[in-house]
Amino acid sequence: MLEPFVRENLPRLQRLYDRAPAPARHLLTSARGWVLTRLRYSRETFAILDDLRSHESWDGRQIADHQLQNLQRALNHAVDTVPFYADYPRLKLQSFEDLCRLPVIERETILDNQDRLLSRALPARQRIRASTTGTTGASLRVAYPENLARSNWAFLLRQRAWGNVAPREPRVTLQGPRVTPARRSDPPFWSYNVPERQVLMSIFHLSERSAPAYLGFLRRHRGEVLEGFPSVLGILSDFALEAGVRIPMRATFTSGEPLYPQVRAKIEAVFGAGVFDTYGMTEYCGLIQECERGQMHLAPEYGFLEILDEDGKPTKPGEEGYFVWTGFLNDAMPMIRYRIGDRGRWQDGALCPCGRAFPLVVPTITRESDILRCPDGRIFSARALNQLLKQSTSFRCCQFVHDEPNHVVVRAVARQTIPNGDSAGDLMQIRSNLQDLLGPSMRVTAEFGSTPVTRRGGKIPLIVCEWSPP
Ligand SMILES: [Zn+2]
Repeated sequence: MLEPFVRENLPRLQRLYDRAPAPARHLLTSARGWVLTRLRYSRETFAILDDLRSHESWDGRQIADHQLQNLQRALNHAVDTVPFYADYPRLKLQSFEDLCRLPVIERETILDNQDRLLSRALPARQRIRASTTGTTGASLRVAYPENLARSNWAFLLRQRAWGNVAPREPRVTLQGPRVTPARRSDPPFWSYNVPERQVLMSIFHLSERSAPAYLGFLRRHRGEVLEGFPSVLGILSDFALEAGVRIPMRATFTSGEPLYPQVRAKIEAVFGAGVFDTYGMTEYCGLIQECERGQMHLAPEYGFLEILDEDGKPTKPGEEGYFVWTGFLNDAMPMIRYRIGDRGRWQDGALCPCGRAFPLVVPTITRESDILRCPDGRIFSARALNQLLKQSTSFRCCQFVHDEPNHVVVRAVARQTIPNGDSAGDLMQIRSNLQDLLGPSMRVTAEFGSTPVTRRGGKIPLIVCEWSPP
């Protein structure tokens, strides 16, 4: 019950946290860690993990059987308990092809039906609400059952095992939580989560000036597990390379945004060891994880993946198409044939040398973005600023246009043709949060546009930098 409460009250708890002195912040981080630990390292989690590990010896037939059974279960559950799917035909799935009789749903449809997609089988108090911004900066409110935190963690632990990392090994994390108040310019830029043996480092305080503190702190934690958003670890790697510093870590796990080959190379050069990437999403309907042989495997117990071309036809191996997911685990908000907006291809050819028969998928990079350089020296990655967009549901798209060294425009495209009170309020809120985060050296304004700012190939970058840094 605690986790839904924390999620619902995150902004209020964050204000309380920001006003606390560093030792109290460590205590609060650990308190939050304790809540999560009870879910993540429960007996049920380890039972699921054992099960998942036993599936690694499955052959193609066993994988297909499992997927077909779970598709049927997911479909029955959706039709029986979710208003949005009530009119769907009651299919008896004989093969994967039967699924094609159901429509593909777009992200836009999900945005318009967020409440009708909730299952009536789950009482509201067992639902956790979260927000995701996907590839366009348009925020979506999703729901998932409290117990999904356990299975989700079991999948994470399975991948850790592929990297020879045991549960609860000490780790350093650079992800979304705001662990250090925005205005702070001196260390600590980190907070301790004692129950999980984890250090959370701020992704909002990276600058030339703070780099020595970050690198010095990481050196004290060398040999531990490193995890974070690729762009953030990339910025950190740049600092390390400039300083001629190498910090060998036990293994590095990336997730939350695409990992570009050049960023991977930098991370490997600085932190040594292998990088294990993950493709997942807050809708919790699919998962792709990198193994110790550097291949991306579909997790067949998590969801069913179709890769479809523009006409909705399955692509051939090696051909790029749209990811269409049907999730097996999220009973609170089931997704049946959900075209999420990301693209990728089935990998052509033989089995992975790791020996697992889980299908190989290559997610293709969907969103290129610039970084934002604040006049006070701090550097923000797209993923760091993305955190600001999570609470706003009234936009089709939202971008940060950095048009002058000390000026940035929050530029949103509203979901309605004429922006209404909600969208104007959301935009002002984001402007104000960004101003708080960037501080007085940057002027933040906001405006509505009719279409997003696009780059070659129709890409919509989150940060658009219109001037050249010296
Ligand atoms: Zn493999």
